[in-house]
Amino acid sequence: MSQKRVFSGIQPSGRLHVGNYVGAMRNMIALQKDYFCIYGIVDYHAMTVHFDPKEMEQSILDCAIDYMAAGIDPDRSVLMVQSTVSEHTELAWILNTITPISWLLRVPTFKEKREQNPDYVNMGLLDYPVLMAADIVLYKAEVVPVGDDQLPHLELTREIVRRFNSLFGHVFPEPKAQLGEVARILGLDGVNKMSKSLDNCIYLDDSREEIWKKLSTAVTDVRRKRRTDPGNPEECNIFTMHKAFSKKEDIDYCARECRAAGIGCLDCKKILLENMCKELEPIQKRQAQLREDRDAVQEILVRGRKRAKEIAVQTMGEVYTKLGINAYH
Ligand code: ADP
Repeated sequence: MSQKRVFSGIQPSGRLHVGNYVGAMRNMIALQKDYFCIYGIVDYHAMTVHFDPKEMEQSILDCAIDYMAAGIDPDRSVLMVQSTVSEHTELAWILNTITPISWLLRVPTFKEKREQNPDYVNMGLLDYPVLMAADIVLYKAEVVPVGDDQLPHLELTREIVRRFNSLFGHVFPEPKAQLGEVARILGLDGVNKMSKSLDNCIYLDDSREEIWKKLSTAVTDVRRKRRTDPGNPEECNIFTMHKAFSKKEDIDYCARECRAAGIGCLDCKKILLENMCKELEPIQKRQAQLREDRDAVQEILVRGRKRAKEIAVQTMGEVYTKLGINAYH
């Protein structure tokens, strides 16, 4: 196995959706074959917006279950909870001291979240990308599987790494984003990114009936007003989902027949439903099994913490040395 490391994280802020799965998880799963992967349930990130502490423990467990049900193998990769390895926030502090505020103010997700929650623009929200940089470089990860909404964060991580290495000497590699084949799925509204916080999602554990209820009313190509109008697949989020879930024959068929007005949107959605369920049903079976064995999942997270901590301590030793504070640790 290559010594190259991979890090990625998902917030325990609700059930995982098909955007998370297609944009990030598929690559996270595939990379396990050739890399040493560390996957985080990033609970400190989830605290930058309103959250309910009573739900946190269960959300973390659910997130771990979703990871494993989708194909993250805890015997091969490290599955850990961010807040259990305190070096994440420690390193974030250090990186804060070399990150100009102007870099953070221009991050698109900060601007979006500030608009979504104008009553709760906290320091954590602004500082989110620095903590994310710390998450990644703490493990000296070189590859970061993510959806395309994370690209500005990754670029910032690289800038921070360059600044740290040039100020104090080389410690961190510059990580690269690895995007999914379909790197962004829009929500059922067909406008916004599919996101837990926007309630516009198809969740990994939605039943066939729930998925159909959502798909049947999901927004398609807005220019196609009537069944007899030729459609524009490239402007349709349902077609994007086809690209993520369907075989080439179905994708080609839907594109061709949509353009020729040979099929209507509902016909196209029915084909998608079948293909989506085919992929999600085995994941749902594993989710149900894992939910029966809560203790085993908790045990995996304790083990993950231990392995992650070993690497984190090693990196921080190098950081202390570069900063001239090692003598007192
Ligand atoms: P959310 O945005 O739903 O809160 P997270 O911020 O926890 O999800 O994102 C976890 C991973 O899933 C990230 O790598 C992110 O880029 C990816 N992701 C989230 N939403 C989408 C989407 N709609 N399409 C593609 N990838 C996505």
